[in-house]
Amino acid sequence: MPTDLITSDRFLLHETYGHPERPERLRAIQERLRQAKLLEGRAVLEPEPASVETLALIHDRAYIAEIEAFAHAGGGWLDPDTYVCRESYEVALLAVGAAVQAVDRVGDGQSRRVFALVRPPGHHAEPRRAMGFCLFNNIAVAAQYALVCRGLSRVAILDWDVHHGNGTQTAFYETDTVLFISLHQWPLYPGTGRGDEIGRGRGFGYTLNLPLRPGTGDEGYRELFDQVIGPRLAQYRPELLLVSAGFDAHRLDPLASMDVTEFGFAGMAVRAWPPEGDRRCAGRAGAAVAARVPRHGVRRRAQSARRKTGATGRSEVTPRGSTWRKYLEVTPMRRAVVLVAVLVLLAGLVPGSAAPAYPSKALEFIAPAGPGGGWDTTARMTAKALAEEKLITVPISVINMPGGSGAVGIAHMVTRRRGDTHVLAVMGSALTGTLARRAVPYTYRDVTPIVAITADYQVIAVRKDSTFNTLKTLLEVFKRDPGAITVGGGSAPGALDHLTFAQLAGLVGVDVTKVRYVPFGDGAAAMASILGGTTTVLSSSLSETLANIEAGQIRVLAVTAPQRLGGALRDIPTAREQGVDFVFANWRGFYMPPETPAEVVRFWEDTFAKMLGSRTWARILQETRWEPFVLTGDRLRQFLDRDLTTTQSVLRDLGLIR
Ligand SMILES: [Zn+2]
Repeated sequence: MPTDLITSDRFLLHETYGHPERPERLRAIQERLRQAKLLEGRAVLEPEPASVETLALIHDRAYIAEIEAFAHAGGGWLDPDTYVCRESYEVALLAVGAAVQAVDRVGDGQSRRVFALVRPPGHHAEPRRAMGFCLFNNIAVAAQYALVCRGLSRVAILDWDVHHGNGTQTAFYETDTVLFISLHQWPLYPGTGRGDEIGRGRGFGYTLNLPLRPGTGDEGYRELFDQVIGPRLAQYRPELLLVSAGFDAHRLDPLASMDVTEFGFAGMAVRAWPPEGDRRCAGRAGAAVAARVPRHGVRRRAQSARRKTGATGRSEVTPRGSTWRKYLEVTPMRRAVVLVAVLVLLAGLVPGSAAPAYPSKALEFIAPAGPGGGWDTTARMTAKALAEEKLITVPISVINMPGGSGAVGIAHMVTRRRGDTHVLAVMGSALTGTLARRAVPYTYRDVTPIVAITADYQVIAVRKDSTFNTLKTLLEVFKRDPGAITVGGGSAPGALDHLTFAQLAGLVGVDVTKVRYVPFGDGAAAMASILGGTTTVLSSSLSETLANIEAGQIRVLAVTAPQRLGGALRDIPTAREQGVDFVFANWRGFYMPPETPAEVVRFWEDTFAKMLGSRTWARILQETRWEPFVLTGDRLRQFLDRDLTTTQSVLRDLGLIR
């Protein structure tokens, strides 16, 4: 599929009076594309202007209004580099619109790559300031649009313009949702982009600056792409790649001195979009390109976007070779810092992880459900055991994050907590159900599974004064008149509690679509409804119903364990002994965000091993009636894959998914 083009003659209306970034530049490129017959066989599209709302994804509204007013008043010089004419505001909206449109086309699968040839350029524009010929930051708006409006979670911006993309860096300096990589001559305008500018806060490690010596040339760029940029992109696995493809590193550029030939640029393009089959680009690919005119001479700037698919995994990347180092232009004092910074990035480390003390601050355990349910209890009991056994000495706070049977929790972990080493979330069968229903665009491969620790069995229960005394009598009535039975549960339709009863129905030969399942927000709400008499049957986990069982409020008709449980539960029959061969274990465990470093995973595997063998944990198992169910590493990952596949096939058989 060819690279499509977005451009417009309207970009010529942005007049700059003799400035190198002038209308003729765009005209020359358009003309050359036509002469070389490069426009044949590809879509050439007119852009639509971006709205102020879209611009406001990056830019301050007051600043946008200021540029509009300045242009409409006739314009003038904003600074010695940046000229604005009467039409400039509308033309600038069109440039941003072209970049956004490129993202949409790639996102919608209409194009695989898009080149947006636009004026004015954008990568120097800061959220509240125009500079370096740039009014609005086309590529930054496009990236933020992809994240906010199209729901992507990882966008990479590669800026190979010979100048540092200061505005783009500013926009994403504190986020891990955009990986910004810039190669630029050093020293040169605008003076930012030192190697030790590597991001801050959550964005630490997600800005990679490669300040280069003059004369780096084709070979130098190739080595940097092969040894540094390629591995970093492969590690990050962006869903979309945007390129600020300025061509001012070209050897004929009168002011920059990078000595790159057209073959060098071709090499960069090939490396940014490797052929199909390369593991960095499995799946669909696409690109957006925005032209940009830099400070002097022949300049083009392009942004390109490319969509990738593929699971995100924890990865450790080391540079392939070390010849790239000689191209970095740094003062002797800074050299060590830069090399450390780059190596830290390549090792996939995060702040704090290199420090000897881990955990270095309070930990968060996310229970992706309301208080009182199985996930909440798992988080709280684990926190308690870790503290009582002094395995963890920093505070652990349990955060309830209900919604979508774990969907809200995993989306939070993937999009907001990437690389955060101080947060763990509870997972389990219910989350498998959520993933199987594709309620979120993730699987277990998008996060870092740490451990499975327990299994809990399901119970089928009724109110104490119900006329149903056995599972058999319940199922007989259900077979005769499925509509007479309403089943309440704490999970979403198609999730665990529904699935339990649906599988039972299937086993006794009832059309599973006849199950009247009423989903409640959590197990406690489902329990309240059975006690209140608004539902007939409760499908829930044993641990969530234990207190009610002990208080004599409900009658458990069956437990899905392979054999009877002991102690106070010895009188509860299994489904199996009532002639329904049904065993269902609801397992639970913990996972961490994407990009959790290997040493942190090892820490938690060791710590959980100690906890699970402790006296405190033995007591908790006794109290909660959980059974030990312990898996880590490869065995855990294999189990999760299998659990997901099995659940999907059951749901498909039941007609709950396609
Ligand atoms: Zn430039």
